[in-house]
Amino acid sequence: MRLSFHGAARGVTGSCHLVECAGTRILIDCGMYQGGRELDEENAEPFGFEPSSIDVVLLTHAHLDHCGRLPLLVKRGFRGEIVTTAASRELARVVMLDSGHLQEEEAHHHARRSARHGSRSQAQPLYTAMDALHAMEHFGRTARYGERLDLAPGLAATFYDAGHILGSASVRLELAEGDHSRSLVFSGDLGNAGRPLLRDPVPPPHADLMVLETTYGDRLHKPIGPSVAELHEVVETTIARGGNVVIPTFALERAQELLYYLREGVESGRLPRRLPVYLDSPMAVSATEIFERHAEALAPAIGARLRAGHDPFHLPGLRFVRETADSIALNRLEGGAVIMAGSGMCTGGRVRHHLRHNLWREESSVVLVGYASHGTLARKLVDGAKTVRIFGEDIRVRAAIHTINGFSAHADRDELLAWHAAVAPDRTFLVHGEEDVMTAFAKVLPGHPPRMPTLGECFEL
Ligand code: ZN
Repeated sequence: MRLSFHGAARGVTGSCHLVECAGTRILIDCGMYQGGRELDEENAEPFGFEPSSIDVVLLTHAHLDHCGRLPLLVKRGFRGEIVTTAASRELARVVMLDSGHLQEEEAHHHARRSARHGSRSQAQPLYTAMDALHAMEHFGRTARYGERLDLAPGLAATFYDAGHILGSASVRLELAEGDHSRSLVFSGDLGNAGRPLLRDPVPPPHADLMVLETTYGDRLHKPIGPSVAELHEVVETTIARGGNVVIPTFALERAQELLYYLREGVESGRLPRRLPVYLDSPMAVSATEIFERHAEALAPAIGARLRAGHDPFHLPGLRFVRETADSIALNRLEGGAVIMAGSGMCTGGRVRHHLRHNLWREESSVVLVGYASHGTLARKLVDGAKTVRIFGEDIRVRAAIHTINGFSAHADRDELLAWHAAVAPDRTFLVHGEEDVMTAFAKVLPGHPPRMPTLGECFEL
Protein backbone atom coordinates (compact mmCIF):
# COMPACT_ATOMS: atom_id res chain seq x y z
CA MET A 1 0.00 0.00 0.00
CA ARG A 2 1.52 3.25 -1.13
CA LEU A 3 0.59 6.89 -1.53
CA SER A 4 2.55 9.22 -3.79
CA PHE A 5 2.16 12.89 -4.74
CA HIS A 6 2.28 14.06 -8.37
CA GLY A 7 0.93 17.60 -8.14
CA ALA A 8 -0.23 20.31 -5.71
CA ALA A 9 2.80 19.29 -3.60
CA ARG A 10 3.97 22.50 -1.89
CA GLY A 11 1.91 24.44 -4.42
CA VAL A 12 -1.75 25.18 -5.06
CA THR A 13 -2.36 23.75 -8.52
CA GLY A 14 -1.93 20.48 -10.43
CA SER A 15 -3.64 18.17 -7.89
CA CYS A 16 -2.76 14.54 -8.60
CA HIS A 17 -2.25 11.80 -6.01
CA LEU A 18 -1.67 8.10 -6.56
CA VAL A 19 -2.80 5.26 -4.28
CA GLU A 20 -1.54 1.73 -4.92
CA CYS A 21 -3.18 -1.16 -3.12
CA ALA A 22 -3.40 -4.90 -3.82
CA GLY A 23 -2.34 -4.46 -7.44
CA THR A 24 -4.82 -1.65 -8.19
CA ARG A 25 -3.66 1.87 -8.98
CA ILE A 26 -6.03 4.74 -8.26
CA LEU A 27 -5.49 8.36 -9.08
CA ILE A 28 -7.20 11.07 -7.07
CA ASP A 29 -7.60 14.01 -9.49
CA CYS A 30 -5.42 14.82 -12.47
CA GLY A 31 -5.28 18.59 -12.47
CA MET A 32 -3.44 21.21 -14.41
CA TYR A 33 -0.75 23.53 -13.11
CA GLN A 34 -1.83 27.16 -13.43
CA GLY A 35 -0.20 30.53 -12.85
CA GLY A 36 2.63 31.78 -15.03
CA ARG A 37 4.72 30.32 -17.84
CA GLU A 38 7.02 28.22 -15.66
CA LEU A 39 4.11 26.34 -14.11
CA ASP A 40 2.38 26.03 -17.51
CA GLU A 41 5.42 24.18 -18.81
CA GLU A 42 5.15 21.67 -15.93
CA ASN A 43 1.95 20.38 -17.54
CA ALA A 44 3.81 18.84 -20.46
CA GLU A 45 6.25 16.95 -18.21
CA PRO A 46 5.84 13.20 -17.63
CA PHE A 47 3.27 12.39 -14.94
CA GLY A 48 5.66 10.50 -12.69
CA PHE A 49 3.79 7.24 -13.33
CA GLU A 50 2.71 5.27 -16.39
CA PRO A 51 -0.79 6.48 -17.48
CA SER A 52 -1.73 3.06 -18.92
CA SER A 53 -1.09 1.47 -15.50
CA ILE A 54 -3.85 3.49 -13.79
CA ASP A 55 -7.11 1.58 -13.24
CA VAL A 56 -9.42 4.27 -11.86
CA VAL A 57 -9.42 8.05 -11.48
CA LEU A 58 -11.58 9.52 -8.72
CA LEU A 59 -12.33 13.15 -9.54
CA THR A 60 -13.10 15.36 -6.51
CA HIS A 61 -14.43 18.31 -8.55
CA ALA A 62 -14.39 20.02 -11.92
CA HIS A 63 -11.94 22.87 -11.36
CA LEU A 64 -9.17 22.89 -13.98
CA ASP A 65 -6.47 22.38 -11.36
CA HIS A 66 -8.17 19.07 -10.47
CA CYS A 67 -9.44 17.75 -13.84
CA GLY A 68 -7.32 19.67 -16.40
CA ARG A 69 -4.79 16.95 -17.24
CA LEU A 70 -7.36 14.15 -17.68
CA PRO A 71 -7.38 14.56 -21.50
CA LEU A 72 -3.57 14.35 -21.46
CA LEU A 73 -3.75 11.24 -19.27
CA VAL A 74 -6.04 9.59 -21.84
CA LYS A 75 -3.87 10.82 -24.74
CA ARG A 76 -0.85 9.21 -23.05
CA GLY A 77 -2.47 5.82 -22.62
CA PHE A 78 -4.95 5.76 -19.71
CA ARG A 79 -7.73 3.24 -20.48
CA GLY A 80 -9.48 2.96 -17.12
CA GLU A 81 -12.61 4.46 -15.59
CA ILE A 82 -13.15 8.00 -14.28
CA VAL A 83 -15.61 8.16 -11.39
CA THR A 84 -17.21 11.36 -10.11
CA THR A 85 -20.59 12.94 -9.24
CA ALA A 86 -23.22 13.74 -11.90
CA ALA A 87 -22.73 17.50 -11.63
CA SER A 88 -18.92 17.21 -11.73
CA ARG A 89 -19.12 15.10 -14.88
CA GLU A 90 -21.11 17.81 -16.70
CA LEU A 91 -18.93 20.62 -15.41
CA ALA A 92 -15.69 18.76 -16.18
CA ARG A 93 -16.84 18.35 -19.79
CA VAL A 94 -17.22 22.13 -20.16
CA VAL A 95 -13.94 22.86 -18.37
CA MET A 96 -11.86 20.32 -20.33
CA LEU A 97 -13.37 21.34 -23.71
CA ASP A 98 -12.64 24.99 -22.97
CA SER A 99 -9.09 24.10 -21.98
CA GLY A 100 -8.57 22.06 -25.18
CA HIS A 101 -9.86 24.97 -27.33
CA LEU A 102 -7.62 27.43 -25.49
CA GLN A 103 -4.55 25.31 -26.04
CA GLU A 104 -5.31 24.88 -29.72
CA GLU A 105 -5.71 28.65 -30.01
CA GLU A 106 -2.46 29.33 -28.20
CA ALA A 107 -0.51 26.95 -30.41
CA HIS A 108 -2.10 28.59 -33.46
CA HIS A 109 -1.17 32.12 -32.29
CA HIS A 110 2.34 30.94 -31.57
CA ALA A 111 2.67 29.50 -35.07
CA ARG A 112 1.42 32.74 -36.67
CA ARG A 113 3.77 34.89 -34.61
CA SER A 114 6.70 32.68 -35.58
CA ALA A 115 5.66 32.84 -39.24
CA ARG A 116 5.63 36.66 -39.08
CA HIS A 117 9.20 36.52 -37.79
CA GLY A 118 10.15 34.18 -40.61
CA SER A 119 10.58 31.07 -38.46
CA ARG A 120 8.49 27.95 -37.87
CA SER A 121 6.79 27.22 -34.57
CA GLN A 122 7.24 23.84 -32.96
CA ALA A 123 4.50 24.61 -30.42
CA GLN A 124 1.94 21.82 -30.12
CA PRO A 125 -1.18 22.06 -28.00
CA LEU A 126 -0.92 20.01 -24.80
CA TYR A 127 -4.21 18.49 -25.92
CA THR A 128 -7.07 19.47 -28.18
CA ALA A 129 -10.84 19.77 -27.74
CA MET A 130 -11.06 16.36 -29.45
CA ASP A 131 -8.78 14.89 -26.76
CA ALA A 132 -11.13 16.38 -24.14
CA LEU A 133 -14.05 14.57 -25.81
CA HIS A 134 -12.07 11.32 -25.78
CA ALA A 135 -11.51 11.78 -22.04
CA MET A 136 -15.29 12.08 -21.59
CA GLU A 137 -15.69 8.53 -22.95
CA HIS A 138 -13.87 7.25 -19.86
CA PHE A 139 -16.35 8.67 -17.38
CA GLY A 140 -18.10 5.62 -15.95
CA ARG A 141 -20.05 5.13 -12.74
CA THR A 142 -21.70 8.10 -11.03
CA ALA A 143 -20.79 8.72 -7.40
CA ARG A 144 -23.60 9.76 -5.04
CA TYR A 145 -22.80 11.42 -1.72
CA GLY A 146 -22.59 8.88 1.10
CA GLU A 147 -22.86 5.82 -1.19
CA ARG A 148 -20.05 3.25 -1.02
CA LEU A 149 -18.57 2.21 -4.39
CA ASP A 150 -16.55 -1.01 -4.76
CA LEU A 151 -13.70 -0.20 -7.11
CA ALA A 152 -11.64 -3.39 -6.99
CA PRO A 153 -11.12 -6.30 -4.58
CA GLY A 154 -9.98 -4.71 -1.29
CA LEU A 155 -10.74 -1.21 -2.46
CA ALA A 156 -13.87 0.94 -1.91
CA ALA A 157 -14.57 4.67 -2.11
CA THR A 158 -17.28 6.92 -0.67
CA PHE A 159 -17.82 10.53 -1.79
CA TYR A 160 -18.93 13.22 0.70
CA ASP A 161 -20.18 16.71 -0.14
CA ALA A 162 -17.19 19.08 0.09
CA GLY A 163 -19.36 22.22 -0.30
CA HIS A 164 -16.71 23.85 -2.52
CA ILE A 165 -18.34 24.03 -5.97
CA LEU A 166 -21.35 22.26 -7.48
CA GLY A 167 -20.77 18.49 -7.34
CA SER A 168 -17.54 18.75 -5.31
CA ALA A 169 -16.55 15.90 -3.02
CA SER A 170 -14.15 14.66 -0.42
CA VAL A 171 -13.30 10.98 -0.89
CA ARG A 172 -12.86 8.30 1.78
CA LEU A 173 -10.99 5.20 0.61
CA GLU A 174 -11.07 1.83 2.36
CA LEU A 175 -8.01 -0.21 1.46
CA ALA A 176 -7.25 -3.85 2.27
CA GLU A 177 -4.17 -5.85 1.27
CA GLY A 178 -3.78 -9.29 2.86
CA ASP A 179 -4.60 -8.78 6.55
CA HIS A 180 -3.54 -5.14 6.45
CA SER A 181 -6.27 -2.48 6.16
CA ARG A 182 -6.25 1.29 6.11
CA SER A 183 -8.71 4.12 5.61
CA LEU A 184 -7.64 7.29 3.87
CA VAL A 185 -9.51 10.57 3.34
CA PHE A 186 -8.75 13.07 0.58
CA SER A 187 -10.32 16.39 1.45
CA GLY A 188 -10.39 17.61 -2.16
CA ASP A 189 -11.03 21.35 -1.96
CA LEU A 190 -13.21 22.19 1.02
CA GLY A 191 -15.84 24.90 0.87
CA ASN A 192 -16.55 27.84 3.07
CA ALA A 193 -19.60 27.11 5.23
CA GLY A 194 -22.72 29.28 5.25
CA ARG A 195 -22.78 30.15 1.55
CA PRO A 196 -26.19 30.36 -0.09
CA LEU A 197 -25.89 28.02 -3.09
CA LEU A 198 -24.23 24.96 -1.55
CA ARG A 199 -24.48 22.77 1.48
CA ASP A 200 -21.76 23.07 4.14
CA PRO A 201 -18.87 20.57 3.82
CA VAL A 202 -19.68 17.15 5.32
CA PRO A 203 -16.74 15.53 7.16
CA PRO A 204 -16.42 11.77 6.43
CA PRO A 205 -16.24 9.28 9.33
CA HIS A 206 -12.87 8.76 11.06
CA ALA A 207 -9.96 7.64 8.88
CA ASP A 208 -6.39 6.56 9.66
CA LEU A 209 -4.84 8.99 7.22
CA MET A 210 -5.78 12.27 5.62
CA VAL A 211 -4.58 14.31 2.65
CA LEU A 212 -5.72 17.84 3.41
CA GLU A 213 -5.85 20.98 1.26
CA THR A 214 -4.43 24.15 2.84
CA THR A 215 -5.22 26.95 0.35
CA TYR A 216 -6.28 29.35 3.11
CA GLY A 217 -4.57 27.60 6.01
CA ASP A 218 -3.11 30.85 7.36
CA ARG A 219 -6.11 33.16 7.40
CA LEU A 220 -9.67 33.69 8.50
CA HIS A 221 -12.30 34.87 6.04
CA LYS A 222 -14.37 37.94 6.61
CA PRO A 223 -18.03 37.08 7.14
CA ILE A 224 -20.06 37.03 3.93
CA GLY A 225 -22.61 39.72 4.92
CA PRO A 226 -20.21 42.69 4.85
CA SER A 227 -18.66 41.35 1.62
CA VAL A 228 -22.04 41.35 -0.13
CA ALA A 229 -22.73 44.86 1.21
CA GLU A 230 -19.32 45.99 -0.11
CA LEU A 231 -20.06 44.49 -3.53
CA HIS A 232 -23.40 46.31 -3.69
CA GLU A 233 -21.76 49.57 -2.61
CA VAL A 234 -18.95 49.36 -5.19
CA VAL A 235 -21.47 48.64 -7.96
CA GLU A 236 -23.77 51.44 -6.82
CA THR A 237 -21.06 54.13 -6.55
CA THR A 238 -19.20 53.12 -9.73
CA ILE A 239 -22.38 53.18 -11.82
CA ALA A 240 -23.28 56.56 -10.26
CA ARG A 241 -19.97 58.12 -11.33
CA GLY A 242 -20.26 56.75 -14.86
CA GLY A 243 -17.74 53.92 -14.73
CA ASN A 244 -17.89 50.19 -15.37
CA VAL A 245 -17.37 47.49 -12.79
CA VAL A 246 -15.07 44.73 -14.09
CA ILE A 247 -15.12 41.52 -12.09
CA PRO A 248 -12.53 38.91 -13.09
CA THR A 249 -14.29 35.75 -12.10
CA PHE A 250 -13.95 32.01 -12.09
CA ALA A 251 -16.60 30.51 -14.36
CA LEU A 252 -17.67 27.87 -11.88
CA GLU A 253 -19.39 28.80 -8.66
CA ARG A 254 -18.05 32.32 -8.23
CA ALA A 255 -19.88 33.60 -11.31
CA GLN A 256 -23.15 31.99 -10.20
CA GLU A 257 -22.70 33.20 -6.63
CA LEU A 258 -22.13 36.77 -7.84
CA LEU A 259 -25.23 36.59 -10.03
CA TYR A 260 -27.15 35.40 -6.99
CA TYR A 261 -25.91 38.34 -4.87
CA LEU A 262 -26.42 40.92 -7.63
CA ARG A 263 -29.98 39.64 -7.98
CA GLU A 264 -30.42 40.10 -4.21
CA GLY A 265 -29.15 43.68 -4.58
CA VAL A 266 -31.66 44.38 -7.32
CA GLU A 267 -34.53 42.71 -5.43
CA SER A 268 -33.79 44.70 -2.28
CA GLY A 269 -33.84 47.95 -4.28
CA ARG A 270 -30.19 48.74 -3.51
CA LEU A 271 -29.18 48.34 -7.16
CA PRO A 272 -31.05 49.69 -10.21
CA ARG A 273 -33.78 47.36 -11.41
CA ARG A 274 -32.42 47.09 -14.95
CA LEU A 275 -28.72 47.12 -13.97
CA PRO A 276 -26.86 45.90 -17.09
CA VAL A 277 -24.86 42.81 -16.13
CA TYR A 278 -22.79 41.00 -18.77
CA LEU A 279 -21.65 37.48 -18.10
CA ASP A 280 -18.94 37.49 -20.76
CA SER A 281 -17.78 33.88 -20.65
CA PRO A 282 -19.14 30.97 -22.66
CA MET A 283 -17.93 28.64 -19.93
CA ALA A 284 -19.67 30.58 -17.14
CA VAL A 285 -22.85 30.65 -19.22
CA SER A 286 -22.71 26.86 -19.70
CA ALA A 287 -21.91 26.36 -16.02
CA THR A 288 -24.91 28.47 -15.00
CA GLU A 289 -27.13 26.23 -17.13
CA ILE A 290 -25.63 23.15 -15.44
CA PHE A 291 -26.44 24.64 -12.03
CA GLU A 292 -30.02 25.04 -13.19
CA ARG A 293 -30.13 21.31 -14.05
CA HIS A 294 -28.71 20.05 -10.74
CA ALA A 295 -31.08 21.06 -8.00
CA GLU A 296 -30.00 17.89 -6.12
CA ALA A 297 -26.46 19.25 -5.66
CA LEU A 298 -27.54 22.68 -4.39
CA ALA A 299 -28.39 23.86 -0.88
CA PRO A 300 -31.92 22.62 -0.04
CA ALA A 301 -33.54 26.09 -0.08
CA ILE A 302 -32.10 26.97 -3.50
CA GLY A 303 -32.88 23.51 -4.90
CA ALA A 304 -36.51 23.86 -3.79
CA ARG A 305 -36.67 27.35 -5.32
CA LEU A 306 -35.37 26.02 -8.63
CA ARG A 307 -37.83 23.11 -8.66
CA ALA A 308 -40.63 25.64 -8.08
CA GLY A 309 -39.55 27.45 -11.24
CA HIS A 310 -37.72 30.43 -9.65
CA ASP A 311 -34.30 30.84 -11.22
CA PRO A 312 -31.94 32.09 -8.49
CA PHE A 313 -29.60 33.56 -11.11
CA HIS A 314 -32.10 35.60 -13.09
CA LEU A 315 -31.66 39.39 -13.32
CA PRO A 316 -33.77 41.66 -15.56
CA GLY A 317 -30.63 43.30 -17.05
CA LEU A 318 -28.54 40.15 -17.40
CA ARG A 319 -27.00 39.33 -20.78
CA PHE A 320 -25.16 36.10 -21.51
CA VAL A 321 -22.26 36.76 -23.92
CA ARG A 322 -21.01 33.76 -25.86
CA GLU A 323 -19.83 35.18 -29.21
CA THR A 324 -16.44 36.91 -29.50
CA ALA A 325 -17.92 39.77 -31.57
CA ASP A 326 -20.43 40.51 -28.79
CA SER A 327 -17.60 40.48 -26.27
CA ILE A 328 -15.58 42.96 -28.35
CA ALA A 329 -18.67 45.19 -28.56
CA LEU A 330 -18.50 45.55 -24.76
CA ASN A 331 -15.25 47.52 -25.19
CA ARG A 332 -17.40 50.43 -26.37
CA LEU A 333 -19.38 50.55 -23.11
CA GLU A 334 -18.44 53.89 -21.58
CA GLY A 335 -20.02 53.22 -18.24
CA GLY A 336 -22.92 51.97 -16.23
CA ALA A 337 -22.37 48.24 -16.58
CA VAL A 338 -21.11 45.26 -14.59
CA ILE A 339 -18.85 43.03 -16.70
CA MET A 340 -17.99 39.59 -15.37
CA ALA A 341 -15.40 37.66 -17.37
CA GLY A 342 -12.67 35.06 -16.97
CA SER A 343 -10.10 34.12 -16.18
CA GLY A 344 -10.37 34.62 -12.44
CA MET A 345 -6.65 35.29 -11.99
CA CYS A 346 -6.53 37.40 -15.21
CA THR A 347 -3.93 35.04 -16.71
CA GLY A 348 -5.88 34.88 -19.97
CA GLY A 349 -9.37 35.10 -21.39
CA ARG A 350 -11.67 37.97 -22.19
CA VAL A 351 -11.18 39.81 -18.90
CA ARG A 352 -7.77 41.07 -20.07
CA HIS A 353 -9.51 43.08 -22.82
CA HIS A 354 -11.93 44.58 -20.31
CA LEU A 355 -9.07 45.43 -17.95
CA ARG A 356 -7.20 47.08 -20.80
CA HIS A 357 -10.23 49.28 -21.53
CA ASN A 358 -11.08 50.10 -17.92
CA LEU A 359 -7.98 50.00 -15.70
CA TRP A 360 -6.73 53.45 -16.82
CA ARG A 361 -10.13 55.10 -16.17
CA GLU A 362 -10.49 56.47 -12.65
CA GLU A 363 -14.30 56.28 -12.80
CA SER A 364 -14.22 52.49 -13.29
CA SER A 365 -13.70 49.79 -10.67
CA VAL A 366 -12.15 46.35 -10.64
CA VAL A 367 -13.47 43.97 -8.03
CA LEU A 368 -11.25 41.00 -7.18
CA VAL A 369 -13.24 38.27 -5.53
CA GLY A 370 -11.09 35.19 -5.92
CA TYR A 371 -7.84 33.53 -5.11
CA ALA A 372 -4.86 35.14 -6.88
CA SER A 373 -1.69 33.06 -6.92
CA HIS A 374 1.83 34.51 -7.08
CA GLY A 375 2.88 35.96 -10.42
CA THR A 376 -0.60 36.42 -11.89
CA LEU A 377 -2.03 39.74 -13.13
CA ALA A 378 -4.78 39.51 -10.49
CA ARG A 379 -2.13 39.25 -7.78
CA LYS A 380 -0.32 42.33 -9.12
CA LEU A 381 -3.57 44.30 -8.89
CA VAL A 382 -4.24 43.00 -5.36
CA ASP A 383 -0.71 44.07 -4.39
CA GLY A 384 -1.33 47.61 -5.67
CA ALA A 385 0.71 47.73 -8.91
CA LYS A 386 0.71 51.24 -10.46
CA THR A 387 1.12 49.93 -14.00
CA VAL A 388 0.54 46.48 -15.47
CA ARG A 389 1.45 44.98 -18.81
CA ILE A 390 -1.44 43.67 -20.93
CA PHE A 391 -0.98 42.53 -24.54
CA GLY A 392 2.50 44.09 -24.60
CA GLU A 393 1.20 47.51 -23.52
CA ASP A 394 1.85 49.24 -20.19
CA ILE A 395 -1.48 50.24 -18.69
CA ARG A 396 -1.74 52.76 -15.85
CA VAL A 397 -3.89 51.54 -12.96
CA ARG A 398 -6.22 54.42 -12.12
CA ALA A 399 -9.46 52.53 -11.57
CA ALA A 400 -10.48 51.77 -7.98
CA ILE A 401 -9.24 48.27 -7.08
CA HIS A 402 -11.34 46.43 -4.51
CA THR A 403 -10.38 43.10 -3.03
CA ILE A 404 -13.39 41.45 -1.42
CA ASN A 405 -12.33 38.27 0.36
CA GLY A 406 -15.58 37.02 1.88
CA PHE A 407 -16.62 35.15 -1.28
CA SER A 408 -13.99 32.49 -0.94
CA ALA A 409 -14.99 29.03 -2.11
CA HIS A 410 -12.35 27.59 0.24
CA ALA A 411 -12.53 26.83 3.94
CA ASP A 412 -10.44 29.17 6.09
CA ARG A 413 -7.95 28.10 8.78
CA ASP A 414 -10.52 27.44 11.51
CA GLU A 415 -12.86 25.58 9.15
CA LEU A 416 -9.97 23.36 8.02
CA LEU A 417 -9.05 22.67 11.65
CA ALA A 418 -12.66 21.80 12.58
CA TRP A 419 -13.06 19.49 9.57
CA HIS A 420 -9.75 17.80 10.36
CA ALA A 421 -10.79 17.37 14.01
CA ALA A 422 -14.09 15.75 12.96
CA VAL A 423 -12.27 13.08 10.94
CA ALA A 424 -9.47 12.85 13.54
CA PRO A 425 -6.85 11.04 11.43
CA ASP A 426 -3.69 9.59 12.98
CA ARG A 427 -1.47 10.97 10.23
CA THR A 428 -1.96 13.98 7.98
CA PHE A 429 -0.39 15.05 4.69
CA LEU A 430 -0.74 18.68 3.68
CA VAL A 431 -1.16 19.59 0.01
CA HIS A 432 -2.69 22.31 -2.20
CA GLY A 433 -1.18 25.36 -0.46
CA GLU A 434 1.69 27.81 -0.90
CA GLU A 435 4.66 26.64 1.14
CA ASP A 436 4.59 29.53 3.66
CA VAL A 437 0.85 29.02 4.23
CA MET A 438 1.30 25.29 4.75
CA THR A 439 4.13 25.85 7.23
CA ALA A 440 1.97 28.27 9.24
CA PHE A 441 -0.95 25.80 9.20
CA ALA A 442 1.28 22.87 10.26
CA LYS A 443 2.18 24.81 13.43
CA VAL A 444 -1.45 25.13 14.58
CA LEU A 445 -2.60 21.63 13.61
CA PRO A 446 -2.94 19.55 16.79
CA GLY A 447 -1.57 16.02 17.13
CA HIS A 448 1.21 14.31 15.23
CA PRO A 449 3.14 16.85 13.07
CA PRO A 450 1.84 16.64 9.47
CA ARG A 451 3.97 15.77 6.46
CA MET A 452 4.37 18.24 3.61
CA PRO A 453 5.23 15.96 0.68
CA THR A 454 7.37 17.12 -2.21
CA LEU A 455 6.64 16.31 -5.86
CA GLY A 456 7.03 12.60 -6.54
CA GLU A 457 7.44 11.69 -2.84
CA CYS A 458 6.10 8.27 -1.93
CA PHE A 459 4.94 6.88 1.43
CA GLU A 460 4.28 3.31 2.56
CA LEU A 461 0.90 3.18 4.31
ZN1 ZN B 1 -11.29 23.85 -6.48
